[in-house]
Amino acid sequence: MKRVISVLIMMLLLETSLLAADKTVTVALPVQADIGQPFLVSIRSGSSLQDVSVSWQGKDSQLTTDNGVFSVLLGTDLKNAKAGKSEIRVSAMVDGEFWEHRDEIKLVAHKYPRENLTVEVEKLTPPKSLSERIKKEAELGRAAIQTNTPGSAPMLPLLRPVPGSYTSVYGKSRYFNGQFKGRHGGVDMRAPVGTPVKAAASGKVVLTGDFWFAGKCVYIDHGAGLISFYCHMSKVSKSKGDDVGRGETIGLSGKSGRVTGPHLHFSLSWRGEFFDPAPLLK
Ligand SMILES: [Zn+2]
Repeated sequence: MKRVISVLIMMLLLETSLLAADKTVTVALPVQADIGQPFLVSIRSGSSLQDVSVSWQGKDSQLTTDNGVFSVLLGTDLKNAKAGKSEIRVSAMVDGEFWEHRDEIKLVAHKYPRENLTVEVEKLTPPKSLSERIKKEAELGRAAIQTNTPGSAPMLPLLRPVPGSYTSVYGKSRYFNGQFKGRHGGVDMRAPVGTPVKAAASGKVVLTGDFWFAGKCVYIDHGAGLISFYCHMSKVSKSKGDDVGRGETIGLSGKSGRVTGPHLHFSLSWRGEFFDPAPLLK
């Protein structure tokens, strides 16, 4: 018995030392990705990794871990991504030495539908007197989605912020009163006014506001460049700087801002690139 145990311990020690000497870094990423759709990149190694960072679409984010796996949710924005090969770079310090992996992901076209909406003319073309306010709010939103704190991919699937079904999908080309007004940067979910809105993942509130377009809204930083955005709410119950847990109520849904009726708009962005959150929400 004693002999068996000592052999087992030897084997364990051997395994540990083999792992410690293994400088191999494994990067798992897709060969191809649809434009506008999210994908996961994960990095693992038997060695200790430090300063892990990923560079994609000319932007980067720093990754952290607590279980030996470094992962990041990435995507491309339908508005600016082009079909073809796109470079991805992962770098780290492996046992104190710089290590880098360069790869390519083939971006392929994805079909998105068209939507015609009718809104009040006043909401379509905001009065001149509001242009300063709208400009300021757009700047705040842009700064919020550029938040780039080190982190790792959130727990998947993400928590659905409201239980309602989709009333509009990501990527729809939108025509307001017949005028092309761009692509839908997120999903809309059915939500009667007053439905509790829950954080899709844990993070930190980086911006809240009552904006002309977005209405009452919340931006949450999940780390590693990932930001979630909830808008058209009737009440916001969190403030900038608050930590929120996955599933924690951040406010109530509503119909504030430029809307045709009550719903929750939900977006996900990596470093300002809005991609489809639907595949991540189960
Ligand atoms: Zn929307």
